[in-house]
Amino acid sequence: MLTGVWMAYASLRVKALIGFGLLGMAVQPALAANCPGNPGALGTSRTIVVDPREHPRIGTMQYSETLPLEDHEVVLTFDDGPIPKYSNQVIAMLAEQCVQATFFIIGRMAREYPEGVRKLIAAGHSVGTHTQNHPLTMNRLPIAAAQKEIDDGIASVTAALGDPAQLSPFMRIPGLLRAAVVEDYLISQGIQTWSADFPADDWRHVSSKTVHDLAISRLKAKGKGILLLHDIQARTVAALPGILADLKANGFRVVHVVAATPDRPKTPTDLQQWQMRPTSETVAISRWPKVPSFAYAYLDMLPAPAMSASDPDLSFPQTFDRTRRVRGAVPQPVPWPRQSTLQPMTDKATLPVPAHTLFEISERHSAPVNAMVRWPHHAEQTPKHADSASVARPISIDASAARRSIPGSMPVTRPGLQPVPSTIR
Ligand SMILES: [Zn+2]
Repeated sequence: MLTGVWMAYASLRVKALIGFGLLGMAVQPALAANCPGNPGALGTSRTIVVDPREHPRIGTMQYSETLPLEDHEVVLTFDDGPIPKYSNQVIAMLAEQCVQATFFIIGRMAREYPEGVRKLIAAGHSVGTHTQNHPLTMNRLPIAAAQKEIDDGIASVTAALGDPAQLSPFMRIPGLLRAAVVEDYLISQGIQTWSADFPADDWRHVSSKTVHDLAISRLKAKGKGILLLHDIQARTVAALPGILADLKANGFRVVHVVAATPDRPKTPTDLQQWQMRPTSETVAISRWPKVPSFAYAYLDMLPAPAMSASDPDLSFPQTFDRTRRVRGAVPQPVPWPRQSTLQPMTDKATLPVPAHTLFEISERHSAPVNAMVRWPHHAEQTPKHADSASVARPISIDASAARRSIPGSMPVTRPGLQPVPSTIR
Protein backbone atom coordinates (compact mmCIF):
# COMPACT_ATOMS: atom_id res chain seq x y z
CA MET A 1 0.00 0.00 0.00
CA LEU A 2 1.33 3.36 -0.90
CA THR A 3 1.43 5.93 1.80
CA GLY A 4 -0.11 9.30 1.40
CA VAL A 5 3.32 10.78 0.99
CA TRP A 6 4.24 8.53 -1.85
CA MET A 7 0.83 8.81 -3.45
CA ALA A 8 1.34 12.53 -3.47
CA TYR A 9 4.73 11.95 -5.05
CA ALA A 10 3.28 9.88 -7.79
CA SER A 11 0.64 12.40 -8.59
CA LEU A 12 2.87 15.44 -8.44
CA ARG A 13 5.68 13.71 -10.22
CA VAL A 14 3.52 12.87 -13.19
CA LYS A 15 2.11 16.37 -13.26
CA ALA A 16 5.57 17.84 -13.11
CA LEU A 17 6.84 15.64 -15.88
CA ILE A 18 3.95 16.47 -18.11
CA GLY A 19 4.13 20.11 -17.28
CA PHE A 20 7.80 20.72 -17.63
CA GLY A 21 9.22 17.88 -19.64
CA LEU A 22 12.19 17.58 -17.36
CA LEU A 23 12.99 13.97 -18.03
CA GLY A 24 14.79 14.32 -21.28
CA MET A 25 17.20 16.77 -19.76
CA ALA A 26 17.89 14.59 -16.78
CA VAL A 27 19.29 11.67 -18.70
CA GLN A 28 21.68 13.58 -20.92
CA PRO A 29 25.18 12.65 -19.79
CA ALA A 30 27.74 15.37 -19.42
CA LEU A 31 30.36 13.98 -21.71
CA ALA A 32 33.87 15.10 -21.00
CA ALA A 33 34.12 16.47 -24.51
CA ASN A 34 31.21 18.76 -23.65
CA CYS A 35 32.53 19.94 -20.33
CA PRO A 36 32.70 23.72 -20.57
CA GLY A 37 36.14 25.10 -19.96
CA ASN A 38 37.64 21.71 -19.18
CA PRO A 39 38.28 19.61 -22.27
CA GLY A 40 40.32 17.19 -20.18
CA ALA A 41 37.53 16.58 -17.71
CA LEU A 42 36.67 13.15 -16.40
CA GLY A 43 33.05 13.63 -17.46
CA THR A 44 30.07 11.35 -17.04
CA SER A 45 30.34 8.58 -19.59
CA ARG A 46 26.70 7.49 -19.55
CA THR A 47 23.48 7.56 -17.60
CA ILE A 48 21.66 4.37 -16.75
CA VAL A 49 17.97 4.25 -15.90
CA VAL A 50 17.03 1.67 -13.28
CA ASP A 51 13.69 0.28 -12.15
CA PRO A 52 13.84 0.03 -8.34
CA ARG A 53 11.08 -2.57 -8.33
CA GLU A 54 13.01 -4.99 -10.46
CA HIS A 55 16.19 -4.57 -8.44
CA PRO A 56 15.10 -3.32 -5.03
CA ARG A 57 18.37 -3.86 -3.16
CA ILE A 58 21.78 -3.17 -4.61
CA GLY A 59 25.39 -3.11 -3.49
CA THR A 60 27.57 -6.16 -2.95
CA MET A 61 28.67 -5.07 0.49
CA GLN A 62 25.33 -6.52 1.58
CA TYR A 63 23.31 -7.80 -1.33
CA SER A 64 23.69 -10.22 -4.19
CA GLU A 65 22.87 -7.59 -6.79
CA THR A 66 24.51 -4.34 -7.70
CA LEU A 67 24.24 -1.84 -10.52
CA PRO A 68 24.70 -3.25 -14.03
CA LEU A 69 28.05 -1.61 -14.62
CA GLU A 70 30.62 -2.53 -17.20
CA ASP A 71 34.24 -3.06 -16.33
CA HIS A 72 35.94 0.18 -15.24
CA GLU A 73 32.65 1.93 -14.57
CA VAL A 74 32.07 3.58 -11.21
CA VAL A 75 29.09 5.26 -9.55
CA LEU A 76 29.92 7.94 -7.00
CA THR A 77 27.67 8.33 -3.95
CA PHE A 78 27.80 10.83 -1.12
CA ASP A 79 25.95 10.51 2.19
CA ASP A 80 24.88 12.69 5.11
CA GLY A 81 24.80 16.15 3.57
CA PRO A 82 24.33 18.82 2.93
CA ILE A 83 26.70 20.83 5.05
CA PRO A 84 27.48 23.94 3.01
CA LYS A 85 31.10 24.22 4.10
CA TYR A 86 31.97 20.87 2.57
CA SER A 87 29.09 19.97 0.30
CA ASN A 88 29.52 23.12 -1.78
CA GLN A 89 33.15 22.21 -2.39
CA VAL A 90 32.16 18.72 -3.46
CA ILE A 91 29.58 20.16 -5.84
CA ALA A 92 32.20 22.49 -7.32
CA MET A 93 34.74 19.71 -7.76
CA LEU A 94 32.24 17.45 -9.47
CA ALA A 95 31.08 20.32 -11.67
CA GLU A 96 34.63 21.10 -12.72
CA GLN A 97 34.91 17.52 -13.96
CA CYS A 98 31.33 17.40 -15.30
CA VAL A 99 30.65 14.38 -13.12
CA GLN A 100 27.19 13.43 -11.87
CA ALA A 101 26.77 11.52 -8.63
CA THR A 102 24.04 10.32 -6.26
CA PHE A 103 23.55 12.04 -2.92
CA PHE A 104 21.75 10.50 0.06
CA ILE A 105 20.38 13.37 2.08
CA ILE A 106 19.53 13.41 5.79
CA GLY A 107 16.09 14.93 6.24
CA ARG A 108 17.00 17.27 9.06
CA MET A 109 19.98 18.48 7.07
CA ALA A 110 17.63 19.26 4.21
CA ARG A 111 15.45 21.23 6.64
CA GLU A 112 18.51 23.12 7.83
CA TYR A 113 20.09 23.74 4.43
CA PRO A 114 17.39 23.35 1.80
CA GLU A 115 19.34 25.41 -0.71
CA GLY A 116 22.09 22.81 -0.55
CA VAL A 117 19.68 20.14 -1.78
CA ARG A 118 18.44 22.36 -4.59
CA LYS A 119 22.04 22.97 -5.68
CA LEU A 120 22.47 19.25 -6.21
CA ILE A 121 19.50 19.05 -8.53
CA ALA A 122 20.61 22.19 -10.36
CA ALA A 123 23.98 20.51 -10.93
CA GLY A 124 22.31 17.44 -12.41
CA HIS A 125 22.93 15.00 -9.59
CA SER A 126 20.51 12.36 -8.35
CA VAL A 127 19.11 12.97 -4.88
CA GLY A 128 17.91 10.15 -2.65
CA THR A 129 17.24 10.03 1.08
CA HIS A 130 18.99 8.75 4.19
CA THR A 131 16.25 8.98 6.88
CA GLN A 132 15.22 12.06 8.83
CA ASN A 133 17.57 11.84 11.82
CA HIS A 134 20.15 9.27 10.80
CA PRO A 135 19.52 6.79 13.63
CA LEU A 136 22.14 4.08 13.79
CA THR A 137 19.45 1.73 15.01
CA MET A 138 17.45 1.10 11.87
CA ASN A 139 18.12 -2.61 12.23
CA ARG A 140 16.42 -2.60 15.63
CA LEU A 141 13.83 0.16 15.60
CA PRO A 142 10.18 -0.84 15.76
CA ILE A 143 8.98 -0.84 12.19
CA ALA A 144 6.64 2.07 12.81
CA ALA A 145 9.55 4.19 14.00
CA ALA A 146 11.70 3.09 11.10
CA GLN A 147 8.92 3.94 8.66
CA LYS A 148 8.57 7.37 10.24
CA GLU A 149 12.30 7.96 9.83
CA ILE A 150 12.05 7.04 6.18
CA ASP A 151 8.86 8.99 5.51
CA ASP A 152 9.98 12.08 7.38
CA GLY A 153 13.28 12.05 5.54
CA ILE A 154 11.48 11.90 2.23
CA ALA A 155 9.11 14.67 3.27
CA SER A 156 11.98 16.91 4.37
CA VAL A 157 13.99 16.48 1.20
CA THR A 158 10.87 16.93 -0.90
CA ALA A 159 10.08 20.12 0.97
CA ALA A 160 13.58 21.38 0.22
CA LEU A 161 13.23 20.57 -3.46
CA GLY A 162 9.70 21.83 -3.82
CA ASP A 163 9.10 19.41 -6.67
CA PRO A 164 8.62 15.75 -5.72
CA ALA A 165 9.58 14.71 -9.23
CA GLN A 166 13.14 15.77 -8.50
CA LEU A 167 13.59 13.21 -5.75
CA SER A 168 14.91 9.82 -6.78
CA PRO A 169 13.32 6.75 -5.15
CA PHE A 170 16.72 5.79 -3.78
CA MET A 171 17.47 5.24 -0.10
CA ARG A 172 20.58 4.35 1.86
CA ILE A 173 20.03 3.04 5.38
CA PRO A 174 22.22 4.86 7.93
CA GLY A 175 25.25 2.84 8.83
CA LEU A 176 24.05 0.22 6.33
CA LEU A 177 22.24 -1.28 9.32
CA ARG A 178 19.71 -3.14 7.29
CA ALA A 179 16.71 -5.10 8.46
CA ALA A 180 14.36 -7.16 6.35
CA VAL A 181 11.30 -5.32 7.59
CA VAL A 182 12.86 -1.99 6.65
CA GLU A 183 13.79 -3.24 3.21
CA ASP A 184 10.32 -4.69 2.75
CA TYR A 185 8.80 -1.35 3.59
CA LEU A 186 11.06 0.41 1.10
CA ILE A 187 10.12 -2.15 -1.52
CA SER A 188 6.44 -1.52 -0.83
CA GLN A 189 7.07 2.16 -1.49
CA GLY A 190 8.90 1.55 -4.74
CA ILE A 191 12.17 2.70 -3.23
CA GLN A 192 15.50 1.13 -4.09
CA THR A 193 17.78 0.36 -1.14
CA TRP A 194 21.36 1.27 -1.94
CA SER A 195 24.19 -0.36 -0.11
CA ALA A 196 27.57 0.03 -1.84
CA ASP A 197 30.30 -2.04 -3.40
CA PHE A 198 33.13 -0.42 -1.48
CA PRO A 199 33.70 2.48 0.89
CA ALA A 200 36.78 4.63 1.30
CA ASP A 201 36.55 4.77 5.10
CA ASP A 202 36.18 8.55 5.01
CA TRP A 203 34.17 8.53 8.24
CA ARG A 204 37.15 7.19 10.10
CA HIS A 205 39.95 9.23 11.56
CA VAL A 206 42.23 8.65 8.63
CA SER A 207 44.12 10.99 6.36
CA SER A 208 42.75 12.27 3.08
CA LYS A 209 45.53 10.31 1.39
CA THR A 210 44.18 7.14 2.95
CA VAL A 211 40.70 7.98 1.70
CA HIS A 212 42.10 8.51 -1.78
CA ASP A 213 44.21 5.37 -1.70
CA LEU A 214 41.40 3.18 -0.40
CA ALA A 215 38.94 4.50 -2.97
CA ILE A 216 41.30 3.81 -5.85
CA SER A 217 42.71 0.51 -4.58
CA ARG A 218 39.31 -0.97 -3.81
CA LEU A 219 37.93 0.15 -7.13
CA LYS A 220 40.89 -1.39 -8.92
CA ALA A 221 40.43 -4.60 -6.94
CA LYS A 222 36.80 -4.94 -7.96
CA GLY A 223 37.12 -3.35 -11.35
CA LYS A 224 33.84 -1.45 -11.07
CA GLY A 225 31.12 -0.57 -8.60
CA ILE A 226 29.42 1.88 -6.27
CA LEU A 227 31.79 3.98 -4.17
CA LEU A 228 30.48 5.24 -0.82
CA LEU A 229 31.73 8.67 0.28
CA HIS A 230 30.53 11.42 2.62
CA ASP A 231 30.27 15.02 1.46
CA ILE A 232 30.43 16.29 5.05
CA GLN A 233 34.00 15.31 5.75
CA ALA A 234 37.00 17.58 5.28
CA ARG A 235 39.15 14.59 4.42
CA THR A 236 36.75 13.62 1.66
CA VAL A 237 36.84 17.13 0.23
CA ALA A 238 40.62 17.02 0.34
CA ALA A 239 40.76 13.59 -1.29
CA LEU A 240 38.18 14.11 -4.02
CA PRO A 241 40.26 16.00 -6.62
CA GLY A 242 42.90 13.27 -6.50
CA ILE A 243 40.27 10.55 -6.68
CA LEU A 244 38.70 12.11 -9.76
CA ALA A 245 42.10 12.61 -11.37
CA ASP A 246 43.11 9.02 -10.74
CA LEU A 247 39.80 7.71 -12.02
CA LYS A 248 40.58 9.36 -15.33
CA ALA A 249 44.25 8.39 -15.28
CA ASN A 250 43.31 4.75 -14.74
CA GLY A 251 40.65 4.66 -17.42
CA PHE A 252 37.64 4.53 -15.12
CA ARG A 253 34.38 6.02 -16.34
CA VAL A 254 31.73 7.63 -14.16
CA VAL A 255 28.15 6.48 -14.60
CA HIS A 256 25.15 8.48 -13.46
CA VAL A 257 22.07 6.62 -12.22
CA VAL A 258 18.48 7.80 -12.47
CA ALA A 259 15.20 6.01 -11.81
CA ALA A 260 12.73 4.88 -14.41
CA THR A 261 9.46 6.76 -14.72
CA PRO A 262 6.44 6.32 -16.95
CA ASP A 263 8.17 8.52 -19.51
CA ARG A 264 11.72 7.34 -18.96
CA PRO A 265 12.14 3.63 -19.61
CA LYS A 266 14.76 1.60 -17.89
CA THR A 267 18.06 0.86 -19.55
CA PRO A 268 17.79 -2.65 -21.02
CA THR A 269 19.86 -5.14 -19.05
CA ASP A 270 19.91 -8.82 -18.34
CA LEU A 271 19.97 -10.31 -14.86
CA GLN A 272 23.58 -11.36 -15.04
CA GLN A 273 24.69 -7.77 -15.39
CA TRP A 274 23.33 -7.13 -11.89
CA GLN A 275 25.57 -9.77 -10.37
CA MET A 276 29.13 -8.95 -9.44
CA ARG A 277 31.58 -11.72 -8.89
CA PRO A 278 34.85 -11.32 -7.09
CA THR A 279 37.79 -10.85 -9.39
CA SER A 280 40.41 -12.17 -7.02
CA GLU A 281 41.01 -13.34 -3.51
CA THR A 282 42.03 -9.84 -2.57
CA VAL A 283 38.52 -8.61 -3.21
CA ALA A 284 36.61 -8.08 -0.05
CA ILE A 285 33.44 -9.75 -1.21
CA SER A 286 35.20 -13.09 -1.14
CA ARG A 287 35.31 -13.06 2.67
CA TRP A 288 31.67 -12.50 3.43
CA PRO A 289 29.42 -13.23 5.13
CA LYS A 290 30.12 -13.30 8.78
CA VAL A 291 27.83 -12.71 11.69
CA PRO A 292 28.73 -9.25 12.86
CA SER A 293 29.98 -8.70 16.35
CA PHE A 294 28.60 -5.59 17.92
CA ALA A 295 30.22 -3.13 20.23
CA TYR A 296 29.26 0.23 21.55
CA ALA A 297 30.73 3.49 20.45
CA TYR A 298 29.92 5.26 23.68
CA LEU A 299 30.91 3.03 26.49
CA ASP A 300 30.29 5.62 29.14
CA MET A 301 26.60 5.28 28.42
CA LEU A 302 24.34 2.40 29.27
CA PRO A 303 24.44 -0.14 26.51
CA ALA A 304 21.40 -1.09 24.54
CA PRO A 305 20.21 -4.67 24.93
CA ALA A 306 22.69 -7.11 23.52
CA MET A 307 22.04 -8.50 20.11
CA SER A 308 22.21 -12.20 19.68
CA ALA A 309 21.99 -14.68 16.91
CA SER A 310 18.46 -15.38 18.08
CA ASP A 311 17.43 -11.94 16.96
CA PRO A 312 15.50 -12.64 13.77
CA ASP A 313 17.10 -9.65 12.10
CA LEU A 314 20.53 -10.96 12.90
CA SER A 315 20.03 -14.61 12.18
CA PHE A 316 22.20 -14.59 9.15
CA PRO A 317 23.22 -17.71 7.38
CA GLN A 318 26.74 -18.76 8.23
CA THR A 319 27.58 -19.28 4.63
CA PHE A 320 26.21 -17.57 1.62
CA ASP A 321 25.36 -19.96 -1.11
CA ARG A 322 25.30 -18.07 -4.35
CA THR A 323 23.35 -20.84 -5.99
CA ARG A 324 20.51 -20.09 -3.62
CA ARG A 325 20.15 -16.47 -4.56
CA VAL A 326 16.70 -15.57 -5.59
CA ARG A 327 16.31 -15.85 -9.29
CA GLY A 328 13.35 -15.65 -11.52
CA ALA A 329 10.00 -14.41 -10.34
CA VAL A 330 11.10 -10.94 -11.33
CA PRO A 331 8.05 -8.76 -11.63
CA GLN A 332 7.17 -7.21 -14.91
CA PRO A 333 9.00 -3.93 -15.21
CA VAL A 334 6.86 -0.93 -14.61
CA PRO A 335 8.50 2.45 -14.18
CA TRP A 336 8.41 4.13 -10.82
CA PRO A 337 6.23 5.42 -9.31
CA ARG A 338 3.38 3.01 -9.22
CA GLN A 339 1.58 0.55 -7.02
CA SER A 340 3.79 -2.19 -5.75
CA THR A 341 3.24 -5.67 -7.02
CA LEU A 342 6.60 -6.98 -5.97
CA GLN A 343 6.72 -9.68 -3.38
CA PRO A 344 9.50 -9.14 -0.88
CA MET A 345 12.55 -11.19 -1.60
CA THR A 346 13.62 -13.65 0.99
CA ASP A 347 16.57 -13.16 3.27
CA LYS A 348 18.37 -15.76 1.25
CA ALA A 349 19.26 -12.98 -1.13
CA THR A 350 20.40 -10.71 1.64
CA LEU A 351 23.64 -10.45 3.45
CA PRO A 352 24.28 -9.07 6.89
CA VAL A 353 26.15 -5.99 7.77
CA PRO A 354 29.61 -6.71 6.42
CA ALA A 355 32.15 -8.24 8.68
CA HIS A 356 35.13 -6.33 9.91
CA THR A 357 37.42 -8.43 7.81
CA LEU A 358 35.61 -7.35 4.71
CA PHE A 359 38.06 -4.79 3.52
CA GLU A 360 41.39 -5.92 4.71
CA ILE A 361 43.25 -4.11 2.03
CA SER A 362 46.35 -2.55 3.40
CA GLU A 363 46.46 1.14 4.04
CA ARG A 364 50.16 0.64 4.55
CA HIS A 365 52.17 -2.24 3.33
CA SER A 366 52.56 -3.56 6.80
CA ALA A 367 49.15 -2.96 8.28
CA PRO A 368 45.82 -4.32 7.12
CA VAL A 369 42.85 -2.02 7.27
CA ASN A 370 40.22 -2.79 9.73
CA ALA A 371 37.41 -0.77 11.11
CA MET A 372 39.07 0.07 14.37
CA VAL A 373 40.24 3.43 15.54
CA ARG A 374 42.35 4.36 18.49
CA TRP A 375 40.80 6.15 21.36
CA PRO A 376 40.88 8.83 22.38
CA HIS A 377 40.58 11.08 19.39
CA HIS A 378 38.56 13.68 21.16
CA ALA A 379 38.39 14.19 24.82
CA GLU A 380 34.61 14.07 24.87
CA GLN A 381 34.64 10.66 23.26
CA THR A 382 36.94 9.10 25.78
CA PRO A 383 35.16 6.51 27.86
CA LYS A 384 35.46 7.45 31.51
CA HIS A 385 36.92 4.13 32.39
CA ALA A 386 39.29 3.91 29.50
CA ASP A 387 42.77 4.02 30.85
CA SER A 388 44.80 3.67 27.77
CA ALA A 389 44.85 5.13 24.33
CA SER A 390 45.91 1.73 23.14
CA VAL A 391 42.36 0.42 23.50
CA ALA A 392 40.98 0.07 20.03
CA ARG A 393 37.28 0.45 19.61
CA PRO A 394 35.07 0.44 16.60
CA ILE A 395 33.49 3.69 15.59
CA SER A 396 30.47 4.15 13.47
CA ILE A 397 30.62 4.89 9.79
CA ASP A 398 28.40 7.80 10.45
CA ALA A 399 29.23 8.55 14.01
CA SER A 400 29.93 12.13 13.13
CA ALA A 401 26.50 12.51 11.64
CA ALA A 402 24.89 10.74 14.54
CA ARG A 403 26.53 13.13 16.96
CA ARG A 404 25.79 16.23 14.98
CA SER A 405 23.60 18.64 16.80
CA ILE A 406 21.38 20.69 14.62
CA PRO A 407 19.67 23.62 16.24
CA GLY A 408 15.99 23.06 16.56
CA SER A 409 16.25 19.43 15.72
CA MET A 410 16.05 16.62 18.22
CA PRO A 411 17.10 13.12 17.34
CA VAL A 412 14.42 10.52 17.75
CA THR A 413 16.76 8.12 19.40
CA ARG A 414 18.50 8.51 22.70
CA PRO A 415 22.02 9.75 22.22
CA GLY A 416 24.83 7.46 23.06
CA LEU A 417 22.89 4.25 22.73
CA GLN A 418 23.87 3.34 19.28
CA PRO A 419 25.22 -0.13 18.89
CA VAL A 420 27.46 -0.28 15.91
CA PRO A 421 28.97 -3.30 14.31
CA SER A 422 32.70 -3.59 14.39
CA THR A 423 32.55 -3.67 10.66
CA ILE A 424 32.43 -1.56 7.61
CA ARG A 425 29.34 0.51 8.11
ZN1 LIG B 1 25.08 8.22 6.79
